[in-house]
Amino acid sequence: MLVVTKFGGSSLSCATQFEKVKKIVMSDPKRKIVVVSALGKRDSSDTKITDLLYILHAHLKYSVPYQDIWNMIYDRFVGVQKELNISYDIKVDLDLLYKELNKNISQDYLVSRGEYLTAKLMSSYLGYQFVDAKDLLCFNYDGLMDEATTTKNVKLAFSTYGTIVVPGFYGSYPNGSVKLLSRGGSDVTGSILSKCLNVTLYENWTDVSGILAADPRIIPSPRAIKEITYAELRELSYMGASVLHEETVFPVQQLNIPINLKNTNDPDHPGTLIKNVCTDESSIVTGIAGKKDFLSFNISKDHMSNEVGFLRRALSVF
Ligand code: ADP
Ligand code: ASP
Ligand code: MG
Repeated sequence: MLVVTKFGGSSLSCATQFEKVKKIVMSDPKRKIVVVSALGKRDSSDTKITDLLYILHAHLKYSVPYQDIWNMIYDRFVGVQKELNISYDIKVDLDLLYKELNKNISQDYLVSRGEYLTAKLMSSYLGYQFVDAKDLLCFNYDGLMDEATTTKNVKLAFSTYGTIVVPGFYGSYPNGSVKLLSRGGSDVTGSILSKCLNVTLYENWTDVSGILAADPRIIPSPRAIKEITYAELRELSYMGASVLHEETVFPVQQLNIPINLKNTNDPDHPGTLIKNVCTDESSIVTGIAGKKDFLSFNISKDHMSNEVGFLRRALSVF
């Protein structure tokens, strides 16, 4: 019995959140593979490390003074290390990164350092081996994943070390350079590792007690969904429910590995179980999601599919 346990940025925003994560991981010996995002927001007015790194990159690219933004990133990482007395000396890696900052630094590489440094902190804190995602997730130059090599790498790393921490959100191209996934992609890293190791469960820990029937930032206190199918979740996330990356379901669905979405701040709450078939049929509508500035038009007209050029004429109106 093996579990992949992924923690999002909201579960890693400060030392107190790290303490909660350690308690969760240590409370179940099946949690041997831990995936982390980068330090997230401490409160709604705060900025995620990932966003700070994107801003830092823009400053470098356009030769704008970047010391203030760098200090913010530096202080947040060092703050967590100091507060928890983590033995890994993060200042060494931060100083190395500082020396690498220049106008032409790769955006993917720089932004991926958020997850990289968070995983290094977490691995030292948990006593699990750090394994760099660039040595696991391999992508071809067309952006497609090399599944065979990735699976081989993941299996080897796990069998070598037994308990590992892996940074989410990135992998590498054949030449070794970092390739970022799309935003929120650590969810996908967790799903890929789950598939490679054919685990019993993929746990995704966040700051809400499961998938809610609507976006809690829009609808106050929506009900939590106990169970949902992969297909329903895929539909909801595609249509805007941002709680899990829309690509998360694909790798685990193939092997029928359930995903349990849980709350780091309320670990005893069962959260939502995502699987192939659901037994709970108590509600007709599973959930509601929507995208802003997204409008659909239905056009009907007899025989329109026989009319050459109809689609072009209809689109030219827009
Ligand atoms: P993490 O940092 O753990 O990856 P995210 O911020 O990516 O977390 O996703 C969790 C957030 O998704 C919640 O805090 C919530 O505001 C938002 N969200 C949007 N739609 C939903 C939904 N239907 N159910 C639950 N949360 C949702
Ligand atoms: N830290 C990255 C982001 O903010 C990836 C993730 O959180 O999954 O998009
Ligand atoms: Mg997320």
